[in-house]
Amino acid sequence: MKKILVLAIFALGLGSCDFSNYILEQDYDFTTVFEKSGGTETATYTEIIDYYEDLAAVYSTINLQRIGETDSGEPLHLVTYSRNREFDFESSREDNSIVMINNGIHPGESDGIDATMMLFRDLAQDSIALPENTIIAAIPVYNVGGALNRNSFTRTNQSGPKSYGFRGNAQNYDLNRDFIKADTKNTRSFYEIFHMVNPDIFIDTHVSNGADYQYILTHLFTQHDQMGGPLGNYLKTELRPALEKALQKKDWETTPYVNVFGDVPEKGFSQFLDTPRYSTGYAALWNTLGVMIETHMLKPYDQRVLGTYEFLRSMIDIADEDAELIKKLRERNLKEFQEMNTYAFDFKVDSSMVSTLQFKGYEAERIPSQVTGFERLRYDITRPFTKPVDYYDNFTATREVKMPQGYIVPQAWWPVLNLLELNNVTMIPFEKDTSMTLEVYRIKDYETRNTAYEGHYPHSNVEVESSREKVMVREGDVFIPLNQKAAKYLLATLEPQAPDSFFKWNFFDSILQQKEGFSPYVFEEVAREFLDDHPEIEEEFLAKKSNEPEFAENWYAQLDWIHKKSDHYEKSHLRYPVFRVNR
Ligand SMILES: [Zn+2]
Repeated sequence: MKKILVLAIFALGLGSCDFSNYILEQDYDFTTVFEKSGGTETATYTEIIDYYEDLAAVYSTINLQRIGETDSGEPLHLVTYSRNREFDFESSREDNSIVMINNGIHPGESDGIDATMMLFRDLAQDSIALPENTIIAAIPVYNVGGALNRNSFTRTNQSGPKSYGFRGNAQNYDLNRDFIKADTKNTRSFYEIFHMVNPDIFIDTHVSNGADYQYILTHLFTQHDQMGGPLGNYLKTELRPALEKALQKKDWETTPYVNVFGDVPEKGFSQFLDTPRYSTGYAALWNTLGVMIETHMLKPYDQRVLGTYEFLRSMIDIADEDAELIKKLRERNLKEFQEMNTYAFDFKVDSSMVSTLQFKGYEAERIPSQVTGFERLRYDITRPFTKPVDYYDNFTATREVKMPQGYIVPQAWWPVLNLLELNNVTMIPFEKDTSMTLEVYRIKDYETRNTAYEGHYPHSNVEVESSREKVMVREGDVFIPLNQKAAKYLLATLEPQAPDSFFKWNFFDSILQQKEGFSPYVFEEVAREFLDDHPEIEEEFLAKKSNEPEFAENWYAQLDWIHKKSDHYEKSHLRYPVFRVNR
């Protein structure tokens, strides 16, 4: 560091900026670990950060910041390239496209880490065509804990690099499932970065598992129907074809992510649905166009890194070219979404709408296994083919709810409010206790996983019934209007039936358990009196007894049924504590 300072002062004395760059450049070797190793190794965490520190010290177009913490104890970094040396995202947003790259969410899939190091160097050194109006921000390595946990074995079938990090983070979470539940500090810091950068295009770099085929590069765009609106349409009809064409021009053929496990792609496959727990699904909630690069694990490491490099460059070219259009579409998408009458979710493949890929695969055969004795799948890479393959990339929503004006969340649910706060959600606190009639959900039915998944036992198949009820809203509880940038995020997290809702991720589990019961021998008298006072309920009770033999045979179930109808039964049991304010 001292050396740089001395040289910089010396150079300034001569009054020549170019000269200072010239001298400083000579002091540094910006050949990456990947290049030095002949394309067989990936940089370690320390090598990555040192590299960017040097790059930022030498080139004024590169800026490196530390932002927030990760579970490992190490900070997150954000490196930014700006041709005009403007590093304030807010003020440069108007005249620039912003692309954000996320690397090393799965550190064993290190291709993007090395490709981005070369890309930032080449941009800084002006050795490639520079984007006119695009700022490029990158998280050099997101899963720092995983990157520090280096080994040569855990990517069981992957071809290189020699050693690499591990998928689980310092707490053993898969960060690419954590974007809504935010169990990790990494995710909480990511929120800060993401909202500061507010990228137009977001790219997450990966390496795929699954079938074998000829392509080195595959793309996994955020699902366009789930994105919806004019932006979803642009993604499907312009962005994806433009990317494929640009890569083909450079002899990098690509195909949609081959979403196939245990079988062959030529039987047809569907697009991967990236719900908001995944990086691109989360980005889509903010009307950011997301894509995961998935290189193929069996291809040599050097080719995968070079392919990733070209993919990144092509996306930057498109961002640069379509800067104004994308910005307009992002705004329109939010506006149109907010004006809709219903919120549609739970997207499923529409198998009536099929498209065809000219797919470059390998012939496969089923042969006896030398290990298990059963039949196994084997690809024969000496027999490549190009065949038409059915591809299902149209999805339709299978549920919808009326769009509310907003939600009321009691302050008691501070773990949820904390996450909303980290996502810059505007919340308006009530200034005094207020009695209101609101739409209330009751949880009618749900299932729960019986094995742990990402630190949770998530719920599924959630059914609710809604009613209008008098609710006492207390001073300090908050109203959350949907008329804000976070609209999609709020619906995706607060509607309990949405695929990655806070309810499904166990944030409201305490309402699922009844806290008070009754002693049958005492309640007998109360129950009799209650039925005498409520003949309509007694009628319902008798009908239930005659229609349901099991109920008729179970005295406890009968008393419990009456208890639940009475004022003694607690209101909070199974009552979803987030209230809907209707339009
Ligand atoms: Zn991955």
